[in-house]
Amino acid sequence: MLSYNQSADEIVRANPELAILPIGSIEQHGPHLPIGTDWMIATAYSKGVAEATGGYLLPVLPISTCREHMGKKGSVWMDPDVFFDMLTSILMCLKEQGFKKVVTLQCHGGIFMMTPIVRQVNATCHPDFMVVNIDSMMMPPHAETMEGTPPGQVEIHAGESETSLILHIAPETVKMELAEACWPTVPRSYLNYGSVFRASQKGVWGDPTKATAEKGRLLLEHNIKCAVAEMERVFAYMESKEKFGYSYF
Ligand SMILES: [Zn+2]
Repeated sequence: MLSYNQSADEIVRANPELAILPIGSIEQHGPHLPIGTDWMIATAYSKGVAEATGGYLLPVLPISTCREHMGKKGSVWMDPDVFFDMLTSILMCLKEQGFKKVVTLQCHGGIFMMTPIVRQVNATCHPDFMVVNIDSMMMPPHAETMEGTPPGQVEIHAGESETSLILHIAPETVKMELAEACWPTVPRSYLNYGSVFRASQKGVWGDPTKATAEKGRLLLEHNIKCAVAEMERVFAYMESKEKFGYSYF
């Protein structure tokens, strides 16, 4: 696996065209999961994607945008415009060095700034440089890990999936005796009108009581496989485009 554990000379020799940039978040995950949940998941998941693709794995960016979790001390975010500038600058740094493709692995659902970043970079840099964002919230569902999701509900935060993943990755950090289900009565878009604690007293959106380490193992494998397949589909789509008018985008 090609990663930040290699020397610069080894990376030069391998000369990869793909870089993998995982993005986490430091945010509350209810009373039963650690604040580093998204970062821990991003670390395990991005290793799997690097092993499957041979891309150059960068360390997980720990902090992104999670203002919707304000109210309990410990969650850390930056302003969305700062995140836009920071991420665009990192992508341009990779382009300057000759990377042709970057896959960003978004491991926190609330980074709404990802869409304008990816669209802007692709629209202005294609065909020399391409970015694909894989949002883990948009993964095809894995039936066995949705046992606790009632029809019509969508698990959003610290529920069965994330709890299963952490039971698999870092079981010593999980306090299952504190896990409680919560299905808020407002839609996800209401996080624009009040913090997560207005919708869910404990900061949970889903049913973590149904989580198991085995479900976490299956889900991690499933997410890695889906991410690699989707990344390859999107890069192939972008590469197949011919110039239209003045633009390759
Ligand atoms: Zn999370």
